[in-house]
Amino acid sequence: MESPSPATGVAFLASGSRGNATLAYHDGRGVLIDCGISAREVRRRIAETGLGSIEIEAVLITHEHGDHVAGVRVLTRTLGIPVFATRGTAGALREQLSDVPEIVTVRAGESFRTSTFGVLPFRTSHDVAEPVGYAIESVVGHRVGIATDTGVLTAEAIEAIGGCDLLGLEANHDLDMLERGPYPRFLKDRIRSDRGHLSNACAARGLELLGSDRLRTIVAMHISEQNNLPRLAMASVGAQARSLGLAADVLVARQTEAIVCEIV
Ligand SMILES: [Zn+2]
Ligand SMILES: [Zn+2]
Repeated sequence: MESPSPATGVAFLASGSRGNATLAYHDGRGVLIDCGISAREVRRRIAETGLGSIEIEAVLITHEHGDHVAGVRVLTRTLGIPVFATRGTAGALREQLSDVPEIVTVRAGESFRTSTFGVLPFRTSHDVAEPVGYAIESVVGHRVGIATDTGVLTAEAIEAIGGCDLLGLEANHDLDMLERGPYPRFLKDRIRSDRGHLSNACAARGLELLGSDRLRTIVAMHISEQNNLPRLAMASVGAQARSLGLAADVLVARQTEAIVCEIV
């Protein structure tokens, strides 16, 4: 007998500088936040999760970096589904996305709907045209917040994703590892700038503003392979969650395999 698929949750299909794709799903339908791995790899990883068939109804893009968009064109053309992106992101990807089925322009702070989900894009801070993160709500009111590739947590981010059931939060680097690591100075400065990436310490501090009684799962995202270790991200975020008295599990999204977080 086939086991029933989980009703609502998030599958972190891939996370890190070699490709990002996150699937928020409800009752067999889903939206993909970013598609920086190939369409074939998206299908393979969804199959590996054991979630069964999920009908992807849209791809929501956070920004134009290749690790977030490499597979968007093929996936959306294959499935005949729209791409949602800010005007700045869509402009930066004009040639790459010239023949996708549909591009829907979104604005930070203005919510919209796909067939199954309510979505609120919020401003992030990154060295690209017009980056956003997404707060996603299922038809039964489960709330998910995804904030990655952001040098700081903006006031809009905190407003949008405070009070979520599940939070996907960037924990890109450990500050000491970054400082001692092999990157050239300009790249180190870029990564830790306000328009770079969120450190373990900043992600942990962010929980002071983002944590709530409702928060059940925190997933550390976009872990650097050069400048961080999963256990350091987990320790930093986990210690903060405990000190705040949050009853949330802390997990780490992976570059090479999917993890699934069901919301119950
Ligand atoms: Zn990235
Ligand atoms: Zn980026």
